[in-house]
Amino acid sequence: MTSAFDFDAAVVGAGAVGLACGYFLALAGKSVVVLEKERLIGQGVSSRNSEVIHAGLYYPTGSLKAELCVRGRRLLYPFLQAHGVGFDKCGKIVVATSEEEVPRVEAVAKQAEVNGVEGLRLITAAEVHALEPEVRAVMGLWSPETGIFDSHGYMLALQGEIEARGGAVATATPFEGAEPLSGGGFRVRTGGDDPAELTVRQLIIAGGLGAQDAAARVAGYPADQIPKLHYGKGVYFAVRGKAPFHHLVYPPPGPSALGIHYKRDMAGRAHFGPDLQFVEAEDYDVDPARAGAFYDYVRHFWPGLSDGALSPDYAGIRPKLHGPNEPQPDFRIDGPERHGLPGLIALFGIESPGLTASLGVGETVAALLAEQ
Ligand SMILES: Cc1cc2nc3c(=O)[nH]c(=O)nc-3n(C[C@H](O)[C@H](O)[C@H](O)COP(=O)(O)OP(=O)(O)OC[C@H]3O[C@@H](n4cnc5c(N)ncnc54)[C@H](O)[C@@H]3O)c2cc1C
Repeated sequence: MTSAFDFDAAVVGAGAVGLACGYFLALAGKSVVVLEKERLIGQGVSSRNSEVIHAGLYYPTGSLKAELCVRGRRLLYPFLQAHGVGFDKCGKIVVATSEEEVPRVEAVAKQAEVNGVEGLRLITAAEVHALEPEVRAVMGLWSPETGIFDSHGYMLALQGEIEARGGAVATATPFEGAEPLSGGGFRVRTGGDDPAELTVRQLIIAGGLGAQDAAARVAGYPADQIPKLHYGKGVYFAVRGKAPFHHLVYPPPGPSALGIHYKRDMAGRAHFGPDLQFVEAEDYDVDPARAGAFYDYVRHFWPGLSDGALSPDYAGIRPKLHGPNEPQPDFRIDGPERHGLPGLIALFGIESPGLTASLGVGETVAALLAEQ
């Protein structure tokens, strides 16, 4: 049967989440185009993060973050394995460095159990020491499901899957706007060197930091249903020399972020970060002056961190839906019940654990659209 539309679905944004949406829509047999304003895929939030596969420890009961992190992680490891994408299920330790921090680590353990995270164990100071001799802790929580991965390899694999099913990933193709068509579907305008118009039955906005702007470009999208975007910047400092630990090491989480933690990437480079600073615009500078706070903080759990070992490295920006000292809201997967436009799903506030959750988000979006 020939369709009246150019594509069944267009996805705005070729980050991990948009590509995962495209993948699940293509798996469902839909013709898909993913529109990306940059010249390459995965240049947004998905390229500036910790590349940690989160087990799903922290997120509140019943939240999309809790459900989709665990679901996404369970889908992600086999996907990476099947596509030859590098990962290391190295595990992580959430450490209490003082007796006062013990209840906070125990609270994480309780929440993680409710969230259905596998394999967790509260461990003694001696067990922490056996895992990481240089870490100072009075106890810890061991999470064997946590890992690290090559997030860019992952996004390339998603692109490959979409293209193998006849879909397209159009880079250097900014989404300029869309109008609902009277019989259903949307007329979509794209810009760039070769501006075009196309018709699609369904539209998914997965624009990361550009999601609010993209939603505002859809005719009829109620402005009061577009949540305010806050930029939650986080910087990383690299550790000179060999990675000091094999496992990831985290302090107990704070109210707005997971806290400055130790992570290493697939190339063996070690980092501490990210901190959290609310900024007014996209700005990826790393102020070397922030190193002082990093030394103070990290030495709580790694007293052996020597002077001069940290160097400014990179920054990322979380697409947050809350400002300073406000509670951290859930991911938003907004359908017609919210904005009144059938066939449209808009994703807002996809901050951490969005990379881990991406396959869970993609699966959910495809299921919601199958019903519409
Ligand atoms: C500091 C930091 C650390 C993090 N650490 C982790 C972690 O360890 N583990 C984890 O699971 N998650 C982590 N996250 C969260 C994770 O990185 C994000 O949730 C995830 O990458 C979001 O993916 P996305 O596809 O929604 O956004 P993006 O990757 O930003 O993709 C959106 C895309 O849309 C494009 N776009 C925007 N507007 C338009 C338009 N008008 N037209 C066309 N294209 C457009 C952008 O160019 C971009 O490529 C971290 C985030 C930060 C900032």
